[in-house]
Amino acid sequence: MQPRRATVRDLRRRNRSTLLSTLFFEGPLSRHELGGLTGLSAATVSNVVGEMIDDGLVIEAGLVESDGGRPRVLLRVNPAYGHVVGIDVGETGVTMELFDLSMTRLATVDRPLASPQPDVALVGEIIAAGFGALLAEAGVAESSLLGVGIGVPGTVEQGDTIRVHAQTIGWDGVALADLVHHHGITVPVFVENGAKTQGQAEMWFGAGRGARHAVIALIGSGIGATVITDGTTYRGATSSAGEWGHTTLSYGGRLCRCGAMGCLEAYVGAEGILDRFRKARGGKAIPRTDEQSQLDFLLSSVDRSDIAAAVVEETVGYLGAGIANLVNLFNPERIVLGGWAGMALGARLLPEIRTATAAHALRHAYEQTSIVLCELGPDAVAVGAATLPVEALLSLGTDPRVRPQASAL
Ligand SMILES: [Zn+2]
Repeated sequence: MQPRRATVRDLRRRNRSTLLSTLFFEGPLSRHELGGLTGLSAATVSNVVGEMIDDGLVIEAGLVESDGGRPRVLLRVNPAYGHVVGIDVGETGVTMELFDLSMTRLATVDRPLASPQPDVALVGEIIAAGFGALLAEAGVAESSLLGVGIGVPGTVEQGDTIRVHAQTIGWDGVALADLVHHHGITVPVFVENGAKTQGQAEMWFGAGRGARHAVIALIGSGIGATVITDGTTYRGATSSAGEWGHTTLSYGGRLCRCGAMGCLEAYVGAEGILDRFRKARGGKAIPRTDEQSQLDFLLSSVDRSDIAAAVVEETVGYLGAGIANLVNLFNPERIVLGGWAGMALGARLLPEIRTATAAHALRHAYEQTSIVLCELGPDAVAVGAATLPVEALLSLGTDPRVRPQASAL
């Protein structure tokens, strides 16, 4: 097949996308600054910005003094151009949030799920009902919605039909976007793995900002990761890339909940850490009831308990070995450690985790990498999901509702 030649229309779209993205992430900016940051000519910046102002996508945002000349007009993305919804479908509930285009949260709706294995039809109904409540709370008309993003557990296979494969909640090839459309929601619907949406939130608004090559490593009860190479999320052939938790740390080692032996998750996921702690205590139950408090108990027992100290030391070693694998495979400039358990470990033990990583990584690659804590925390799945329609807007340079078939996802 002959590669399609770039047309004038493609070029125009690319310029719009470049300028709109720059204004979204760096704005407000003057036309002069936009030219400097994008490398586009003054005439192109002026034409394309003029079009986007006519479309209502870009607005003026005050003046800035310039050296000796006339004050320059500052430009920004119009927060009121449209709204986006981000939805976090978790194991314990559904959180729905509505944002304007400055990503200011205007409304939140939380709905608990009684079963950790929720019926798909029930989740569809919750989303449909929550959708109306969300619009009413924010006082926003449905016609102003640019799109909906949904973060879910498990693997999301992108394509004409988006399919969710989530073993842990019992979903096998669920066509979630179709289901949501079936409930009368007509705007474009984007679906992505929750760890990846949280990773994208961290890249856009948190500790990943400005990095082109990064890994967002999320440790909760289980483990996930988002790998960003050259500014883009690495997805693999069917979007399941980034399953760092199921890379083998110890051949023939502990049984993982995926069914394999020796996965990183079986050692460093909160469930794995607590199970090792329980075994080290001779099977004696750990005080407190939920995983989060039990992990806190373990970490705060280090000074008075040799058993706790040994389990934590071992955990740091396993985690360092796991992070070193990321360093050696991807050569990231930054590794962002997040997830509730990752934050609990990192808050107390980041220097030790860095030392353990250095002991297992190639020296040159390790020296190029900084290991930092995430800034947004586990609540960022919904905001990350809301970035999916915004990402479509930025990459198209125009309203994603007009050309949903040209989605960049
Ligand atoms: Zn596994």
